[in-house]
Amino acid sequence: MNDMMTAAPQTTTGGNSVLILGGGLAGLTAAKRLVDKGFSVQLVEKRDIFGGKVSAWKDKDGDWVETGLHCFFGAYKEIYDLMKELGTYDAILWKTHELNYRLSQGVKFKFKTWNLPSPLHLTPALFRNGYFSIPEMLTFAKVLGPILFGGDKYNEAQDHLTYREWHEQRGLSQRMIKKMFLPMALALKFLPPDILSANIVLAVTGEFLRRPDASKMGFLKGSPQEYLTGPLCDYLQKKGVKLYTNSRAVELIYDGEKITGVKMANGETLTADYYLTALPVHNLKTVMPDHLKASHPFFSNICAFEGVPVVTIQVWYDRQITDIDNILFSPDGVIPFYADVAQTTPEYATMQGLSHKGKTRFEVGVAPAKDLIKLSDAELIAKVDSSIKDLFPETAKDAKILKHTIVRVPQSVYAPYPGLEQKRPTQKTPVRNLFMAGGYTKNRFYDSMEGAVSTGNKAAAELLKTHGVPA
Ligand SMILES: Cc1cc2nc3c(=O)[nH]c(=O)nc-3n(C[C@H](O)[C@H](O)[C@H](O)COP(=O)(O)OP(=O)(O)OC[C@H]3O[C@@H](n4cnc5c(N)ncnc54)[C@H](O)[C@@H]3O)c2cc1C
Repeated sequence: MNDMMTAAPQTTTGGNSVLILGGGLAGLTAAKRLVDKGFSVQLVEKRDIFGGKVSAWKDKDGDWVETGLHCFFGAYKEIYDLMKELGTYDAILWKTHELNYRLSQGVKFKFKTWNLPSPLHLTPALFRNGYFSIPEMLTFAKVLGPILFGGDKYNEAQDHLTYREWHEQRGLSQRMIKKMFLPMALALKFLPPDILSANIVLAVTGEFLRRPDASKMGFLKGSPQEYLTGPLCDYLQKKGVKLYTNSRAVELIYDGEKITGVKMANGETLTADYYLTALPVHNLKTVMPDHLKASHPFFSNICAFEGVPVVTIQVWYDRQITDIDNILFSPDGVIPFYADVAQTTPEYATMQGLSHKGKTRFEVGVAPAKDLIKLSDAELIAKVDSSIKDLFPETAKDAKILKHTIVRVPQSVYAPYPGLEQKRPTQKTPVRNLFMAGGYTKNRFYDSMEGAVSTGNKAAAELLKTHGVPA
């Protein structure tokens, strides 16, 4: 598909032309909403593939490599609407509704739910998890009130605290933060509870508590390129959206009132009637000129945001190590979240084109990665292997690594540090013809696939409103 996009992007006007910067889920979703309303849409992407943080490609052996392990949550909605429109929703395979934890030396516990109305569905998770004591869980149950009923207002009022501060102020156990909330925080935002805002952990916990199916998780049956971003790009091209790869935006041109163009890395300037940025926030900061940043706190606030480093590693082992067909969480070692994708994602039960069924293909998230990202490939693989041998001492003891892949992302999702919630921008900006999408912009699902899709939808809806078209 990318071969079809060799022509240079064109300058367009005509009242309804839109230039979208960034070909991740947020930008592609916005493109769909706008082309469906008859807009003339061009989208520029700096890499040679679309999909951004959810992108996937094949390595020299023909095995898929993903930017990161991606789970779908029962709490999501707008991404499912999008996938239903594309006809790919059925590619999500829903897993048993439980959270599996694996600790050093093979210790394990799980949080299960019962099919009861909320919050009774959590009874077995609280009192029959097989690891935390009843007094520990009772102390936790006592602080659930505001998480359950306080809503966004309560959570946002806690945004000045790290999750650790919130946890300790309520007298909750250290064991609980070390063994349960550490991997949860690292899986959510790749940051430990010591620096992650309490707002994030409370918002996610609240969502899980309120809705019985919210924490249910699913995996695609194959690669996101085949079941999500690829079909979306195909749809856009059929509808006449001009998609360009290898096209890097360098600077928004701002005349003090509106955006008049975008300077591109190849020296060209592109113009359109409307501009929609769907760039990661660390890239957006470099694309905004200083006088735009200085023009309004809306833009200067964005300079406070940065991306979090994370490393994704796949390791193929010569035998089956776990029979868990789901995500796993581990507080001990360097792999807080991972899955045997040979089980969760049936089309990944391969190695170099041959069946790998009955053996292991772990895809692991390495976090916190501030220091680990600097290690050599050999050092990283040794650390992952030793974590796996410690977590699965019986089944992994003699297991041999057959192959690995490593993807380092120095700035991935935005880092939700305390105090940032109120600085998150809306999709409508103070500049009339400029709109913003991406997980750092206001939405209830933060920097996630749902967050990206919902902000793409919202940014497009705001643009339509400005243009006087019903969304
Ligand atoms: C390791 C990992 C695991 C994850 N796991 C999950 C999960 O399990 N569940 C979940 O819901 N979410 C998960 N996420 C988060 C999810 O992938 C992101 O929130 C979502 O994909 C972000 O989409 P986006 O369009 O906002 O940004 P991006 O995907 O970052 O897209 C932005 C695009 O802009 C392009 N770009 C940057 N600069 C320029 C420029 N100057 N000019 C032109 N183009 C530019 C980039 O190349 C990129 O393609 C995970 C993320 C990572 C990194």
